[in-house]
Amino acid sequence: MKYRAMRGTRDILPGETRKWQFAEGVFAGVAKRYGCREIRFPIFEATDLFERGIGEMTDIVKKEMYTFHDRKGRSLTLRPEGTASVVRAYLEHSLARRAGVVKLFYMGPMFRYDRPGQGRYRQFHQVGIEFIGSPDPQADVETLEILVGFLKGLGLRNLETRINSLGCPVCRPGYQQSLRDALAGITSSLCEDCIERVERNPLRVLDCKQEKCRLQFGKLPVMLDHLCGECDDHMKRVEEMLGGIRLPYRVDPLLVRGLDYYTRTTYEVHHAGLGSQSALGGGGRYDGLIEQMGGPPTPAVGFSAGLERALLSLDEEGASPDVAENPDVFIAPADETGEREIPGLTHRLRQRFAVERDYRRRNLKSQFKSAADHGARFVIILGEQEVAEGSVAVKDMESGEQAKVPLSAIEEWLEANLASL
Ligand code: AMP
Repeated sequence: MKYRAMRGTRDILPGETRKWQFAEGVFAGVAKRYGCREIRFPIFEATDLFERGIGEMTDIVKKEMYTFHDRKGRSLTLRPEGTASVVRAYLEHSLARRAGVVKLFYMGPMFRYDRPGQGRYRQFHQVGIEFIGSPDPQADVETLEILVGFLKGLGLRNLETRINSLGCPVCRPGYQQSLRDALAGITSSLCEDCIERVERNPLRVLDCKQEKCRLQFGKLPVMLDHLCGECDDHMKRVEEMLGGIRLPYRVDPLLVRGLDYYTRTTYEVHHAGLGSQSALGGGGRYDGLIEQMGGPPTPAVGFSAGLERALLSLDEEGASPDVAENPDVFIAPADETGEREIPGLTHRLRQRFAVERDYRRRNLKSQFKSAADHGARFVIILGEQEVAEGSVAVKDMESGEQAKVPLSAIEEWLEANLASL
């Protein structure tokens, strides 16, 4: 074997693609029921869009971007997430609506130069939602409803929703200072990354996954105790509404997400069976981002979720959907006359049914084997005798029964018998 897929990328083979279509279908279905419309944006963008939109101090921008120069020397980057591109498109095409919120969803591959492992790839696939234009906590709750509704719609059960508030430009600076002061006292027991974060963005320290750092966090001040009146009110309303729709959650004061642009509500949904990479999806409010990217001050909230991890969790729960892609019918010519009629009949039936055939001119017995391998429900047998009578013989592969059906009525017969399954 000379060529292999690059490390951290993988082929999704025909046996698996049905699961992906299923997952994408569930997501699009839930998103549409909440009034979201799909947006598709380019796979690559100017590098500075992500530097500005995600934050120069984030792990993504600092070490995980696939950045390259094109033939004119422009710096381009494969999209590592969707929000920056959605906001760019929103501003570029003036998608703002005078009345109300712009609700968008997207699905597609993202690229991060991360160390590949269980549930972590360099090309992975996200589905996401952005509600742009509402400061109301109802928007926060609805996006979280979509995330949980999607994961439940896949059939997942062992989900845990965590929420927190990251405050706003009014209350966060004061909290950041007291966090920095507290961290100064324990710097010697933190990892190198955290020591660097203490000065530049102390909140991100709380995001560290290293055990030796996490052990210290119990003693640190938390944002929730420092929220201004408005942020506190916002958080209370979110919690009230979650109670109202009976969506179970846990307040996690250490939940700060990796990206710099979040304000107020932030949330993640985890799966118990996934080990250290247990976050299936996460998001929250990002009221400052659109202005930071050159637009008018515009509140927004959204999330993204990883499809690989969602599908892994389904396997882990033994809840993967039935992914059979069996043909409805297999057409088997019995002789030369049948062979001649086959292109016309398959063409005709394929206007309505999934039809399979054998392309190798083999005897009927081999063709029946092939039909069984394909999992076809019915086999149509066509030979000289049938052509003379204007009929076909149809064998039900499950019951073994055989029926004679007029050629002119075969569609109706199949329709009726497939529907009754
Ligand atoms: P993030 O944009 O980092 O908040 O990621 C949102 C979701 O995308 C995560 O909860 C994961 O499900 C998924 N995800 C992020 N990075 C990766 C990766 N490298 N491989 C697979 N899934 C990922």
